[in-house]
Amino acid sequence: MLQLERLLLLAALAISAVSADTQAIKNQVAYSGGLHDPFDPGFLESTRPAEYIIREMRGSLIPEGCKTRFQELKINPRDTEVYSVTYTDGCPKPWIFCRQNTAQLSITTMASLFGRLPLHMRGLVRHPIATRDPSCSAYSYTGIGDIVFRGECTTPSVWIHETGHQMDSMLNPANYHSGTSQWNDALNQDSCVPDNYANVNKIEDFAQVTVTALYRSIRGYIPRSDHPGCFDHQLGQVLQIYQAGYFAGSNECRGQVPPSPMVSKDGKSATARIVAPSPSEGMVVGPCKFE
Ligand SMILES: [Zn+2]
Repeated sequence: MLQLERLLLLAALAISAVSADTQAIKNQVAYSGGLHDPFDPGFLESTRPAEYIIREMRGSLIPEGCKTRFQELKINPRDTEVYSVTYTDGCPKPWIFCRQNTAQLSITTMASLFGRLPLHMRGLVRHPIATRDPSCSAYSYTGIGDIVFRGECTTPSVWIHETGHQMDSMLNPANYHSGTSQWNDALNQDSCVPDNYANVNKIEDFAQVTVTALYRSIRGYIPRSDHPGCFDHQLGQVLQIYQAGYFAGSNECRGQVPPSPMVSKDGKSATARIVAPSPSEGMVVGPCKFE
């Protein structure tokens, strides 16, 4: 209970640190119904999952990061599964995925949704993790690269959003791009943010703009909004800074966040992170909840 409370507190702090002095960023949004309906069909149509090979890693070992994430959520690591997923489009090393064995997301669904992300965005993620929950919400551990999906998070935009948080921080929450004066300038020049969820705070705004920017990069346009052009400076800035390095389709592996070391599923987590998060590792963004 304490651990979960601590997690929730961290999540609350992560949000309040950014949004303490504002109710909403803008009083106008581009897509009043959220990004799912306008963007996900196009993502599904215009992307194909990179080819992958899934191997279950049976036995008593689990990556330390997955174990800690599960323990924070009061899930017994014994009730979880570990998989190596090797994509054949660039990086020879696998990503190590973890899932609660009752999670709604199957390993195939996880591998396939993650595989729709551009290779270099995938490189920003350490462990994709799924758990069972009545509705979809998600967390990004922006100091270490883990992304956690609770419930049936089956839409590309949710996976892009969480990976967008990793792109914002680049493993260093002290340097969020969404916290820079450059991002603030873009916001000041725009009359809206993408949707109501982007209005929660600048961190969520950056992640939602990332969804629209990747779409723009893939399809060459974005779906018509209620107020065309109203977040063009945010969109343009994300494209300018990240398109070539993270959205574009080069198949050269430039590395990926290495998986955490394997530890026993039994016993307490070896890490003291839950008790005393270090400044860089304790940052949790979420719960991100989507319509
Ligand atoms: Zn988020």
